[in-house]
Amino acid sequence: MTRRKRPVYPAGQRSALCLTFDLDAHTMWTSKDPGNAARPAVLSSGDYDLGQGLDLVLGLLAGHGVRTTFFVPSDVAVAFPSAIGEIVAEGHEIAMHGTDHNPLPDRSRPAEAALLRSVKDTLEQVSGTPVRGYRAPLYDVTENTRDILAEIGCTFSSNFMDSLHPYVVHGDHGAIVEVPTHWALDDGPHLLFANSPPNHRQFLGNDQIARIWLDELRAIHALGGVTTMVLHPQLVGRPSRVELPARLLDAAEELGEVWLPTMGELAAHVLDAADVLDRGKA
Ligand SMILES: [Zn+2]
Repeated sequence: MTRRKRPVYPAGQRSALCLTFDLDAHTMWTSKDPGNAARPAVLSSGDYDLGQGLDLVLGLLAGHGVRTTFFVPSDVAVAFPSAIGEIVAEGHEIAMHGTDHNPLPDRSRPAEAALLRSVKDTLEQVSGTPVRGYRAPLYDVTENTRDILAEIGCTFSSNFMDSLHPYVVHGDHGAIVEVPTHWALDDGPHLLFANSPPNHRQFLGNDQIARIWLDELRAIHALGGVTTMVLHPQLVGRPSRVELPARLLDAAEELGEVWLPTMGELAAHVLDAADVLDRGKA
């Protein structure tokens, strides 16, 4: 695959902020340790994810008039269709996040293509909306992932950490927009605690986390990039923590010229802009 950078936003916008959420629910815990399936108190964080965490996050987004993208494992969507219905009813986009949050069982191209096709079909059936993109659990993609996404009719991937700008990847089966992120913009490293390693760490205060996120937003904005937040209702959806994405939205408003699209909208715009540039060269 070849790669070209197209840092182009709609007129009047200098940068983009994608405030995305991963609704992992119980799979966040069962994928760390299958034994957690028999630990109801560990799994109860997944109940919070789908319940009060999601309520607080949806309330925050509605209060700011922001529509965004929720990445959902297909097992979660099948088990909890009403949560998907709530998200869709608020105007948000549903995208792929694997089946059960475990690594790919078979990393061959045919097996990965079959899995992604099945996940897309399932999410479209449950949500009643088109599904256009993918974030792999733990960002664990293969060299084939983005070409498979193009092949099955998707427009975006949000997995890589190689750029500050969305960019177009051209493969054998078409073009895909990569919307890159970084671990610093994922709430997991700041807010995820488990009673066994590897997620056994000290919590940080909101001011410390806000400092990192607001500094990143302002610096990426200055460079005209995309700030791709990767958030989880069971982590940042705590009643005090939900102030963190609120601070980001307030800061974006203060900066001005920060575009807040769904990832599908961002990808469509970047692909259109790339088409115009390609036609101009022809
Ligand atoms: Zn996840």
